[in-house]
Amino acid sequence: MKGAYLVDYHVHTENSIDSGAKMTDYCRQAVRVGIQEIVFTEHFDLNPLEPGRWYLNYQRYSAQVEECRRRYHGLVTVKMGLELGEPHLYRKEIEEYIRGKNFDFLLGSVHWVDDLALHREYCDSFEARKAYLRYFSEVYKAVEAGGFQVLGHLDLLKRYAPPDYRGFSAAVYREAIWEILRRAVGQGIGLEINTSGIRQKLKETLPSAEILRWYRELGGDILTFGSDAHRVRDLGADIPVAHQLAARCGFRQFTTFSRGEPTMHPL
Ligand SMILES: [Zn+2]
Ligand SMILES: [Zn+2]
Repeated sequence: MKGAYLVDYHVHTENSIDSGAKMTDYCRQAVRVGIQEIVFTEHFDLNPLEPGRWYLNYQRYSAQVEECRRRYHGLVTVKMGLELGEPHLYRKEIEEYIRGKNFDFLLGSVHWVDDLALHREYCDSFEARKAYLRYFSEVYKAVEAGGFQVLGHLDLLKRYAPPDYRGFSAAVYREAIWEILRRAVGQGIGLEINTSGIRQKLKETLPSAEILRWYRELGGDILTFGSDAHRVRDLGADIPVAHQLAARCGFRQFTTFSRGEPTMHPL
């Protein structure tokens, strides 16, 4: 861990509807906290009910990336990415959108199941078991369809689970999660360790350690680290903790991407 290459592969700026943070401020913060590489993974959502649908202004985004690369050359590596919402449902639109653009990294995430966002309304609509199984089946479809390098926050639903769900235990949904993981390994799709849960109510990563261990046991070895920062002060939050967790779960390396091509680094 000492001297490890520290990166943050899940960061939102003002180019995402739910963040007001400036890209240059993140870069300044990266120098301060020792993050050597950032991917700005802006939301790319096409669900008709999603307020952030088609929100990203690519011209503005890429101009900001260029400016950061110029200003922070040799200090911070700045990469271009997207957090694709339900990529399996919008394949054609996504392929058309990214054509000719130099994205380094695509994170695939499920934030919606049919016409319900994974917030209170979704949880209020089903009891726990049904809610998780429906969610995991949607994640499976995303992995099956592919078109991205790494699956975002695999057990995200636990963040929104109401008290009557009585917590989340991966073991209860082992079969459904294994199906996702096996498919991910087969497709060469990685997992992210999303550290946002550590600084929020959950007090643990997404996904949880158990799921990371299963992925490793099934032969998975593509792992990225992301804070899911929407504010500058959260950049790089708990990334060293995620390195330690990855090592405990049996990983020896993690992955960075340039134009979708992986490079492995020691933890
Ligand atoms: Zn997300
Ligand atoms: Zn995000």
